[in-house]
Formats: sequence, C-alpha cells, structure tokens
Amino acid sequence: MTRPRPVIAIDGPAGAGKSTVAQQLAKRLGYVLVDTGALYRGLALIARERGVPWNDGPGLGALAATLALHFVPVPGGAPRLLAGERDLSTDIRTPEISMGASDVSKHPEVRAALLELQRQLGKDGGVVLEGRDIGTVVFP
Ligand code: C5P
Repeated sequence: MTRPRPVIAIDGPAGAGKSTVAQQLAKRLGYVLVDTGALYRGLALIARERGVPWNDGPGLGALAATLALHFVPVPGGAPRLLAGERDLSTDIRTPEISMGASDVSKHPEVRAALLELQRQLGKDGGVVLEGRDIGTVVFP
C-alpha cells in the first residue's frame, strides 16, 4: 500500500515569512500550494463590490458559499485565486482588502464556510496549506 502524501501546515502571524517558505516547499516537493489568507481576501473583495458589509457575518457566510473560490497553479510561480472564471489575484493585494480580510475573518459564519473549502482543497494530500489555524483547526 502506498502512503498518501501528507498535508503540510505552515501557520504563523503576519510577516513571519509563511508565504516564502510555503512557496519554496511546495515547489521543491511538487505539492499544491494553498494560501488560505487569499480566500479571506477574495471574500472581502467581492463583498465590497456587492455591497455586503464587512460586519455582516451571516451575509458574508452566505456569500462565501456561492463564490466558487479556487486556485489555479502557475508553473514556477504563486497560484492564482479565481472566483468562478474571474482572476482575483491582483485585486486582493491592496491595503484596503488587507483590512477587509481581517474584518471578515472574525465572523464564525465566514470561518465555517471557508473551513469546508480549505478541507476540500487539502483532502487528497500533497498540499502545503499556509495560514493561521491549519494545524489547529483545518487539519488538526
Ligand atoms: O495572510 P494574509 O495577510 O493574506 O491574510 C489575510 C487575513 O486573513 C489575515 O489578516 C487574517 O485576519 C485572515 N486569515 C485568517 N485565517 C487564515 C488566514 C488568514 O483569519 N488561515
């Protein structure tokens, strides 16, 4: 029986260097890279565009369930974050969306919706997940 490839969790606070390590590790191992912060950023961006306030937990949770957020690998580079067919990768990297991601991430409804998505993304193993609660909550 072959051993399934593991899920690798890289957790830490902002500025700790998670992204750099996660990218290099995923590249070296040939694993899929999942930047979980990008998911919170994507939700904040689309919520702002659609007029869902960043303090509306139930509204944000419902929105998160409809977005079809997913990553598309880029050879030798960071994966792109898409919602359906739209590439959000550039628009989520602004100071405003950083604040929005932090706001939306506080709501239990949002955490629950994105928890399911993160588990789906990692279910087959062979994945490096970068975040804050991967080793404690998402894949304990
Ligand atoms: O890592 P990044 O700055 O892209 O994350 C954006 C925001 O998403 C963080 O400030 C944090 O509030 C939230 N976040 C989270 N849980 C994660 C990843 C990010 O709450 N696993």
